Amino acid sequence: MGRLVVVLLLAAGAYLLFRRLGTQGHHRKHSPTIGTPMRRCHYCGTYVPESETLTRGEQTYCSAAHLNAEKSEESP
Ligand SMILES: [Zn+2]
Repeated sequence: MGRLVVVLLLAAGAYLLFRRLGTQGHHRKHSPTIGTPMRRCHYCGTYVPESETLTRGEQTYCSAAHLNAEKSEESP
């Protein structure tokens, strides 16, 4: 009876260890930054996540300052 408990504990331990290693490898492959599309600021050329960009027409900008800076350069 005691031997059966030891076998079960070893099996459970091996199963948990295997599962933990498996999930760690899975997390390493899916970095959150890889899935985020990057956009280039039309003014300074810096790449920023799409969710943080500002758009005017077809152009994207990293900040309101650069959006306004280019707008003032275009107007005579
Ligand atoms: Zn910029």
